[in-house]
Amino acid sequence: MNCPDKETMQDFVDGELSDAKIPSIIGHIRSCDTCKTELRELYTLHNALNRIVDKDRCPSLDALEKYADNSCSDEQTSKIAEHIDFCSRCRSYVWAFQASEEELANWQTQEELAYKEFEAKELGYNAAKETLCKLLPGKIYLVDKIWQSALSFVLDLKGKAIENWPSFNQETRLVGVLGFADASDPETDAASIIMATSLYVSQAVSDGDIVPSTTDIETAIKEVATKLGAGKELQKRLIETVPPLVLKFT
Ligand SMILES: [Zn+2]
Ligand SMILES: [Zn+2]
Repeated sequence: MNCPDKETMQDFVDGELSDAKIPSIIGHIRSCDTCKTELRELYTLHNALNRIVDKDRCPSLDALEKYADNSCSDEQTSKIAEHIDFCSRCRSYVWAFQASEEELANWQTQEELAYKEFEAKELGYNAAKETLCKLLPGKIYLVDKIWQSALSFVLDLKGKAIENWPSFNQETRLVGVLGFADASDPETDAASIIMATSLYVSQAVSDGDIVPSTTDIETAIKEVATKLGAGKELQKRLIETVPPLVLKFT
């Protein structure tokens, strides 16, 4: 879900949110640092206003956050537990900061996955760009132009066994799949094969599908480039150029 609007956050703090809405708000706040900060600010204000009428009734926000992380002393823990039993305002604050072990582990895994994905993309982009720069510098502008389609094409291939990939040749050209149905010059054709091949092997190395060694990368390039329609000469150039680049960026 997106960040809740100010009014919803304020209702949450004031304890005026319907029970049905609370779980999704809490779920969001637990995973969103922006909302956590905002929540803290709203509670601080709320407490400051509250204190005038009802002096020091609620524990401090720091204490509540400690309680949520299980890092309070036993004495404090039982005090707060008693308090949140009747104070719905503090209870919802604790909920918003309490993450189960499982939730924390999930976030961590998700974050790690997102980071790995980002790294793989970076590697793919750099490898594709440098390969093109070395082999066909005149077509370097294509990197940014076909980057998105090349990436989705490659990610799609990665989910399939190589024998189930479509075969590309003089009639069915890869360049058409990458968005240049009307491109007729052999250089654009070659550039699309260079991009897709270098991207594919870098992604596969990042994901651990290919061992990061020259021999293994060479074998993969040969297999992939052939399937993508590279002629003998282009295959040879790719085998010479791509492995050291991928190893350099890994
Ligand atoms: Zn948020
Ligand atoms: Zn309270």
